[in-house]
Amino acid sequence: SKPEPKGPQKVPGIDRIVAIASGKGGVGKSTVSANLACALAAEGRRVGLLDADVYGPSQPRMLGVSGRPASPDGKTILPLRNYGVTMMSIGLMMNEGQAVVWRGPMLMGALQQMMNQVQWGALDVLIVDLPPGTGDVQMTLSQKFQVDGAIIVSTPQDVALLDARKGIDMFTQLKVPLYGMIENMSTHVCSNCGHEEHIFGHGGVAKEAEKLGAPLLAEIPLHLDIRTASDGGAPVVVSKPDSAEAEAFRAMARRL
Ligand code: ADP
Repeated sequence: SKPEPKGPQKVPGIDRIVAIASGKGGVGKSTVSANLACALAAEGRRVGLLDADVYGPSQPRMLGVSGRPASPDGKTILPLRNYGVTMMSIGLMMNEGQAVVWRGPMLMGALQQMMNQVQWGALDVLIVDLPPGTGDVQMTLSQKFQVDGAIIVSTPQDVALLDARKGIDMFTQLKVPLYGMIENMSTHVCSNCGHEEHIFGHGGVAKEAEKLGAPLLAEIPLHLDIRTASDGGAPVVVSKPDSAEAEAFRAMARRL
């Protein structure tokens, strides 16, 4: 028998794995993942989105898909698809409203199942929406699979930046290259009058990125349309493609 392969493995058919991470929850990591995936798909790239946020899986709602993924042969799992994005969420393997109290080994099993048993097909890029923080899912993903790069999402607030730094440290230790950082909820743009206000501050992520020598990939405004679009199951990139918000996400996609 062949010896057990060591180190992170490439997933057959998947060219590139990009992890979207954050130190804290609620900073917009899932919003960024959904819009980035849709923007890449709109550019004609073959995109998969793996929602691995076990504590708050939100991609089914953000991408407007529901129902249980089928498994015709009892082994492979058929992913769902919308807006040109092939998607699988750990949330679709649980009942809605069911809290996750899985332990490390179960999380590892679920993640490996989602990587290996889901019929992703040929992908140019698989976006992985990670849970916030530095836990088992991040470790398993980077140790078992070859992650080509991580993107850290943070708000400009000091508390969020502090946790973002821990996330960057973790990926450095796990030898995952840092693609760059994204400042989300950067500047509030009033949907009524267009007035701009820095509710969570501004420029904190740019400063941090410069210190680390990491690219600042985007500054995404805090805008009502971004939230309502996600809640309505059609990310702003899809539902308001002509808006400045959508363009901010597309500009980020072009840098990937
Ligand atoms: P995380 O994945 O980091 O927990 P989410 O992407 O779920 O965060 O975002 C948390 C909430 O904030 C959601 O209701 C989302 O719609 C909203 N949100 C995220 N980014 C923005 C933004 N730039 N402008 C307006 N609302 C946003």
